[in-house]
Amino acid sequence: MNKAIFLDRDGVINVERGEYTFRPEDFTIEKGVKEALEILKEKGYTTVVITNQAGIAKAIYTKEDVEACHAKMHEQLPGLIDDVFYAPYYPPLSESLGRKPGSLLFERALALYHVDPQQSWMVGDNDRDLVPARKLGMHTIGIGVAEKFPSADACVSSLLEAVTNVIMK
Ligand SMILES: [Mg+2]
Repeated sequence: MNKAIFLDRDGVINVERGEYTFRPEDFTIEKGVKEALEILKEKGYTTVVITNQAGIAKAIYTKEDVEACHAKMHEQLPGLIDDVFYAPYYPPLSESLGRKPGSLLFERALALYHVDPQQSWMVGDNDRDLVPARKLGMHTIGIGVAEKFPSADACVSSLLEAVTNVIMK
């Protein structure tokens, strides 16, 4: 069995702008993310981004826009993110268990990469990111103030802090 780190995208990998990020020029990697992912890869973790992209269902942007942002992400974090799953749904326009807090995309990734949830972590900046991971038996870390995260095992201020102060401890 493998161990994995699951990551939300906006607010964890790239800067949360308070609005939809769908243009590559607006997609800025957070400080310390590259270093954090390098540590995780060196320690043998599979790294998977799981992101809700409701703007597709709302027709604010397209799958091609999302793919272009992810191409930039992979270009700036070469070999550091093994896979990206995104949920292009928005209730009530479209319902799906793939949209967090639904756990379908996590379950798919666990099966695809033969991951042991008990050796794995989810890092998110919204409690909704952590709920499905917790349900599946993973450890959870919130980025932000503790009050926001009833489902978190730990709260930190960045992915780098999550890796160095919690996961590697
Ligand atoms: Mg987020």
